[in-house]
Amino acid sequence: MQKTHSISSYFDYTASQPPFSEALSAQAAAAERWYANPSATHPAGRAAYNALMRLRGDFSAVCNFDGRLLLTSGATEANNLVIHGIMRAHSRAEIVVAADVHSSIWEAARHYGRRMRVVNPRSDGSLSEREIVNQFSRRTVLFCCPHVSNETGVIHDAALMAARCRRLRVRCLIDGSQALGHIPVDLAAINSDYYVFSAHKFGGPRGFGGLFFREAPNTALLDGGRQQWGMRAGTENLPGLAGALTALRFSLESMDGEALRLRSMAVELIAGLRRGGIEMLVNGDPERGLPGFVSVSFPGINGNELMTDMAMRGFSVATGSACHADIIEPPRVILAMGRSAEEALGTLRISFGRMTSGADADALGGGLSDALKGVATGPAQGA
Ligand code: PMP
Repeated sequence: MQKTHSISSYFDYTASQPPFSEALSAQAAAAERWYANPSATHPAGRAAYNALMRLRGDFSAVCNFDGRLLLTSGATEANNLVIHGIMRAHSRAEIVVAADVHSSIWEAARHYGRRMRVVNPRSDGSLSEREIVNQFSRRTVLFCCPHVSNETGVIHDAALMAARCRRLRVRCLIDGSQALGHIPVDLAAINSDYYVFSAHKFGGPRGFGGLFFREAPNTALLDGGRQQWGMRAGTENLPGLAGALTALRFSLESMDGEALRLRSMAVELIAGLRRGGIEMLVNGDPERGLPGFVSVSFPGINGNELMTDMAMRGFSVATGSACHADIIEPPRVILAMGRSAEEALGTLRISFGRMTSGADADALGGGLSDALKGVATGPAQGA
């Protein structure tokens, strides 16, 4: 029987975080106060415009950025805006992407067919600077890389990538969706041409994200008004920005302590499974990667079935596999690390967050051991 879900049995923080209630309140307050359209030149519109500029400035300051912050509906839109905005303007240009990018980069780049080149990570999930540069040609205009991979939790050296691209006159897009609010992000130090984020990944509102940039992508995606330097038509989501700023501040306040706590829970989860004699391959390094993130491949096990079994026990965990019309595809990023299709198909992605207690993590470990041993147990503790 499917159990009702509760936050204590939620282990998919990488996909989305529960919002901070303070962020939702800040969003609601901004919506009520600055209801006018920031593009309007009457007094109410000017008040909204001034609030928008102030919040933009505050958000940028928290990230130590002194360029422009373009507001979007999330990281998917921001990634698409940069990739299509640049690639559509250059008919022969090439794009290079790290294989562990999110699908919003991967699928956008795939539009350019043979003009897309891919850099596979090493078996530990890290990226080789030399491999990246090897994929660059005279036609390469853009390189895209996650700051933190949402499939492996591996943290890349964004500043190094950006510096190398700059020297080679290739624009650099860093997708910071899994980084901002979770690990230190200093945009002055990273100094990439583009840096993308999505607010619901750090406890902010859904459907709000942004793009930090200095030089705009060449073409816009949407036709309409002249908002946001002509790069993104549509009334700016001022309430979303207010909510995101509050969520970011709250995340940063507790970031260091949380990182320690979440990493030790992730390490303990793996140690516990190992103590139970469970055979598995750990993708990435939970001790040094995205705090609270665990990706494990269980050879010979179907990850989708395991996820379903876990769901029946009340646990919300993720698999990297995509299922289209009964055909289950192994996760592309895990394959790119050199895992076999069989290993990759047995991948489970578990992520802890600020509402996860040690007892919740222990209950998950127990439930997972039972599921892997095929033991039918009663309801999980704390679920
Ligand atoms: N990039 C990364 C690394 C992500 O993890 C995600 C969300 N899974 C996105 C982009 C897309 O974010 P959104 O769905 O909020 O547009």
